[in-house]
Amino acid sequence: MSRASTGAVLWLLLAGATPTHGAVLERTGYVMGTMLSVVIDSPDSALAARALDTAFALTSRLDCLLSNYRPDSELSRIGREAPAPVSLSPLTLDFLSRTLSWCDRSAGALDPTVGTLVHAWGFDSEHPARPEANVLDSASRLCGYRKVRLDTTAQTASMPCGFNLDPGATGKGYALAVVDRALLGMGVTRWNADFGGQLFCRGTDSLLIPVRHPRSDTTALAWLTFALGSVSTSGDYERYFDEGGKRYAHILDPRTKSPVQGRASVTVYAPDAFDADALSTALFVLGPQAAGRLLEQAGAGALFAEWNGETLELIIVGAWPSAR
Ligand code: ADP
Ligand code: MG
Repeated sequence: MSRASTGAVLWLLLAGATPTHGAVLERTGYVMGTMLSVVIDSPDSALAARALDTAFALTSRLDCLLSNYRPDSELSRIGREAPAPVSLSPLTLDFLSRTLSWCDRSAGALDPTVGTLVHAWGFDSEHPARPEANVLDSASRLCGYRKVRLDTTAQTASMPCGFNLDPGATGKGYALAVVDRALLGMGVTRWNADFGGQLFCRGTDSLLIPVRHPRSDTTALAWLTFALGSVSTSGDYERYFDEGGKRYAHILDPRTKSPVQGRASVTVYAPDAFDADALSTALFVLGPQAAGRLLEQAGAGALFAEWNGETLELIIVGAWPSAR
């Protein structure tokens, strides 16, 4: 089952549990390469309709600015026009500055310049495979987030030729955080969303949210509950190939230039959707030992599913809102 259909399972739970205080409007659409479902719960049905329009307009705008599948996106242009500085809109600037901040705080475990490595491993294609040593070697010289220069005064960014920015680890979480800010500004205080499996809830309660089992999309690994915040999972079951009894999945350790081994999934709950997305990827690289300090900075908690031979070991770190 694909991630979208897993998301749909979660979505049914969310939509069904939304308490009604007036109009409940829902919309589902394809944006940023995945399915976005939004439920707005408002006593004012005209406001709810405007809020839905805003949510989809903002995410589509972010897709145009950030997509690495669009050669004309601002993020792609930073690579294409390198090493010249590229003028950025405030949203792209904010996205990059928030992403680079987690790169620093995670000591480079999160690094959007892995784009070149992701391409070398073929995780941006239908047929990922182990690259030849010389290909990996060349790609690894074209990575390193510290070489991305962000000038917040001139509102530009630049990086060396051959570098490639990949928004995959933080784009959806950023979009959810931006939409939340906009909807709050409009007076919407009860809404929730499922964005390709990342959930966001504000003002809802009593929701029981399952964390999917990394090898079974119909089995829950755990349950959590919260009234405000977001849940993001990074796993070894989305884009991967198996070779020699090992799984090679799409999250790369920037230190080894290779897929992380031994970890099935990391699910992060955080009050802020961007933090949840950034942390799930960073902690997939770093593991549970290094997690406490990072989670604390975001008021967040994580559930790690670690391979111990054939069995999964579950480890909870930080403020994890367990339902049981
Ligand atoms: P998903 O996209 O499945 O929600 P993530 O949020 O963890 O999962 O993002 C993983 C994507 O981020 C990968 O497909 C790849 O494009 C990119 N990526 C892989 N490794 C890293 C990394 N160490 N830092 C930043 N981005 C990464
Ligand atoms: Mg992520």
